[in-house]
Amino acid sequence: MNKSRSTPVEINKSDFKKIGYDLIDTIADFFDTIESYKVTSGESPVQLQKTLTATGLPEEGKSAAEIISRSSDLLLNHSLFNGHPKFMGYITSSPAPIGVLGDLLSAAVNQNVGAQILSPMATEIEKQTVQWLAEFIGVSPSYGGVLVSGGNMANFNAFLVARTAKMPKSLKEEGLVNTNSKLVAYCSKATHTWVEKAAILFGHGSKSIRWIPTDSENRMNNDLLSKTIQQDLRNGYQPFMVVGTAGDVSTGVVDNLKEIASICNKNNLWFHIDGAYGAPAAIIPEFKSVFEGMDLADSIAIDPHKWLYTPLEAGCTLVKNPKHLIDTYSSHPEYYNFSKDEEGQSLNFYEYGLQNSRGFKALKVWMALQQIGSNGYTEMIAEDIKLSKLLYELAEKHPELEAITQNLSITTFRYVPMYGLPENQLKREAYLNTLNETLLDSLQQGGEVFLSNAIVLEKYCLRSCIVNFRTSESDIQEIIEIVIREGIKLHSQMQKATL
Ligand SMILES: *Cc1c(COP(=O)(O)O)cnc(C)c1O
Repeated sequence: MNKSRSTPVEINKSDFKKIGYDLIDTIADFFDTIESYKVTSGESPVQLQKTLTATGLPEEGKSAAEIISRSSDLLLNHSLFNGHPKFMGYITSSPAPIGVLGDLLSAAVNQNVGAQILSPMATEIEKQTVQWLAEFIGVSPSYGGVLVSGGNMANFNAFLVARTAKMPKSLKEEGLVNTNSKLVAYCSKATHTWVEKAAILFGHGSKSIRWIPTDSENRMNNDLLSKTIQQDLRNGYQPFMVVGTAGDVSTGVVDNLKEIASICNKNNLWFHIDGAYGAPAAIIPEFKSVFEGMDLADSIAIDPHKWLYTPLEAGCTLVKNPKHLIDTYSSHPEYYNFSKDEEGQSLNFYEYGLQNSRGFKALKVWMALQQIGSNGYTEMIAEDIKLSKLLYELAEKHPELEAITQNLSITTFRYVPMYGLPENQLKREAYLNTLNETLLDSLQQGGEVFLSNAIVLEKYCLRSCIVNFRTSESDIQEIIEIVIREGIKLHSQMQKATL
């Protein structure tokens, strides 16, 4: 420790060890007993504020031990635990414990992975991580890329790269206002909301998105895609990219990527794949055909904080020809002395994306990839899919459940009571929608299990997405029982209310 200066931020070595070991003990116990917690405390913001207690900015400092201990209490008693075996709402995984330690180490060394010279080994580790991610999903090692905070950022990054690659160089200087081109991008109706944000963020406006209808299997209707492109060309629009989805956020469907690739090829359009959730499933041998054509993408978004089980945050943009990243983002201000090394191997990640100073998100991903290995991941992801199928089968067999969809590790289903439903078909569907929505609210508050929702063909469904290495068969069986028990209770309450 620096002996000549005493500051309130330092923690002396023995205190640091004591506090740190205590914290590690707390976390180890938490992981070991996570099943016995409620999935969520289900408290309202007002209740939480009472627990937190309102205070102004502290003037005087207090002991680190006290702060750490109170922080643990607050978080372990008032959180939603996506590491809980019965958490399967939305798409957030149980965090790999090694990633938790990775974040600690990464914060301690505090590398700025914006430039090679500021993060010598960290930059190399991030490069290797990106290479491994490309290998993981089975695309060519020529892809390069960069770690970002998540799927949205990974897709934004690719969107801007696509535009730069497909538009005249002058666009960078003149901006959109000074070009007459009416840029349009294509994606299916099932595409995640990021695409709307991207169109707004980069100045195209949300009307520049062509939401292509899906077929009966919820894949982008590629005939309509082709037709819409032709129509736009006739009407003076300027198509520049098509987004294919590899695992849609609602039901896990993968578009026909090979067909989209050929449409892009024919029309000289950038082919981007949003694989934020689903891309890792490409490692499963039986799913090779589902993901056929992924290696034809110009860019791919993938989220290690989803199906690679790394703690938040970690997303990744992969670009087939990384030169397009440099073309989009590189700038060389006079205050940066980040020159190339003699072997031409140096890479300054600030030139690969929107961020300048960057944390070392790659470390936890790199560690998890090694601890688990591609065989371990193949097993875990296949198991998640198997459990999702089991949930679908149990729902199919149960007289009071309707199984709706099952793709990758996402299952949708709904509660349909056997008696007491309106005769009229429209009224019946409306009642079931209200019933299932109320049921979801009640389940989410209850803390026994955490599901989310999907609307499939106008049916309000319960949705389970398993990216959770703690979930087991018994959890799936118990979830069925919980849904039925709560469903019966709510149906009876709702019937009484309408009498
Ligand atoms: C989750 C998801 C996103 C958004 O990713 P974030 O990490 O939440 O930013 C985008 N697309 C798909 C298909 C997703 O599943």
